[in-house]
Amino acid sequence: MSEAISPSAAAEERWDVIVIGAGPAGYAAAIRAAQLGMRVACIDKSVDAQGKPTLGGTCLNWGCIPSKTLLDASHKFVEASTGFQAFGIEASDVSINVAKMMAQKDAVVAKLTNGVASLFSGNGVAWLPGHGRLHGHCAVEYTPAAGDVAMLAAEHVILAAGSAPIEIDPAPLNGDTIVDSQGALEFDATPQRLGVIGAGVIGLELGSVWARLGAETIVLEALDEFLPIADQRIARDALRALRGQGLDIRLGARVIGAAAAQDTVTVTYQDKDGEHELEFDKLIVAVGRRPYTEGLLAPDSGVNLDERGFLYVNDLCATDAPRVFAIGDVVRGPMLAHKGAEEGVMVAERIAGHKPLVNYDCVPNVIYTHPEIAWVGRTEQSLKADGDTYRTGTFPFAANGRALASNDGAGLVKIVADAETDRVLGVHVFGPQASELIAQAVIAMEFDASAEDLALTMFAHPTLSEAMHEAALGVSGRALHMVNRRRA
Ligand code: FAD
Ligand code: NAD
Repeated sequence: MSEAISPSAAAEERWDVIVIGAGPAGYAAAIRAAQLGMRVACIDKSVDAQGKPTLGGTCLNWGCIPSKTLLDASHKFVEASTGFQAFGIEASDVSINVAKMMAQKDAVVAKLTNGVASLFSGNGVAWLPGHGRLHGHCAVEYTPAAGDVAMLAAEHVILAAGSAPIEIDPAPLNGDTIVDSQGALEFDATPQRLGVIGAGVIGLELGSVWARLGAETIVLEALDEFLPIADQRIARDALRALRGQGLDIRLGARVIGAAAAQDTVTVTYQDKDGEHELEFDKLIVAVGRRPYTEGLLAPDSGVNLDERGFLYVNDLCATDAPRVFAIGDVVRGPMLAHKGAEEGVMVAERIAGHKPLVNYDCVPNVIYTHPEIAWVGRTEQSLKADGDTYRTGTFPFAANGRALASNDGAGLVKIVADAETDRVLGVHVFGPQASELIAQAVIAMEFDASAEDLALTMFAHPTLSEAMHEAALGVSGRALHMVNRRRA
């Protein structure tokens, strides 16, 4: 466990760094600062289902890790139910024990959150369970779960308070039939009829989990366009694939009311044809997240908010208050664990006098459906809108030996490169293990690679990565395993 320290002992210290929030942004900052020889304390108020303080924030407790555990579990269930048959493996009477699946998820979460506690301990980070509030001059008011409030003094403060689900008036949460993402990770049985508001990342991931386990799932999305931030071709293919898996995704469907009865919810939504009503056993509200700043700033903190309620920071994550930084979901930029963690490392190193930067042009995005959707950099539609000239290379997994060997041949890789310099501007993958494949693109873009650099690189055969190679060759019309319209 992490170094135990009482509030009064904490108040006697002059901390080099106090971090408020121990999600992936805050804990990465705390560990890196400690590695650099600083005296660090990290305050976090999260508690687990048993009321015990826990580290890791949303990501480890109620976000990335539990959702990926359920996505993997439900994917294995589909594979065992129907996927094995193509290989001659007969598995009859496949069933899902939701309680066991949840126990496995909880075990993974416990392992990882305890792992952060061990890392704190091993690096000498003092874990202060409770609430933190920033005052002027880097003074932090610490309210422990039990015990007296203490005022702590620090040279630097890093705010990493994270985000919370957005709630909407038409569908007020009741913790039972109408839930947010956290509730949807804790159903004790597969709902027969599931409604999801929002076809964003959470709606698609958690909708997939329960649809795979047998829930009749309807996803209501207010926008007419599906996944507007993704490449349009990939969004179109993904919509078709997900609908084919039984997710009934309705676009242009704005929810205007949800009435909960004993065990059901009646949802009213509006589309171009008028108003409609649907009845569900459970309704997941997944309409986005907002920065979480409740109780974080005393009036004299000197930290300002931007017009959308995020803590205002510059490119280096410095707030308007001297020696106070803010990172992760509570500041501008994509709400992703790895983005926050990189900001945490940057800030810790800057405090130590180093000069790192976060490259916001190279943040990978992944949606863990099956097939997965992943991308980094610019989309074709955004380049077109800006009037930039570009070339594209695409390659389908249907022509990739490894994908076919595992009967997983849906999807494609698409590379967008500058028409003049050939520099890779964006890479988009819809297919098996897109989350892993995209790392190659991130590395290539970090090193300012051209499509030709990727084309000249040797990839092992047979691998899914060969689709990346072929797409790079395709930028100049030289893909080997497809007929090129453009020849080079
Ligand atoms: P958080 O993880 O939210 O941590 C903030 C911590 O600060 C919390 O523990 C909070 O209790 C604490 N805190 C807040 N205020 C105070 C205070 N005043 N005093 C003390 N403590 C305080 N991202 C990905 O990159 N990949 C994924 O696959 C992914 N899946 C997700 C799935 C779901 C269902 C959800 C909800 C999110 C997912 N995310 C994913 C997003 C990811 O969880 C967040 O981007 C990430 O957790 C943000 O990290 P953070 O450290 O900024 O904040
Ligand atoms: P989101 O912004 O991705 O999607 C919300 C969707 O809800 C939007 O498409 C929006 O148009 C729709 N919507 C809003 N109001 C509506 C209404 N009244 N009726 C119907 N549709 C409505 O938000 P999210 O899915 O809640 O995810 C929140 C954040 O968490 C994201 O920013 C994401 O970065 C992060 N996250 C990431 C991952 C991952 O990296 N794999 C997984 C989960 C969450």
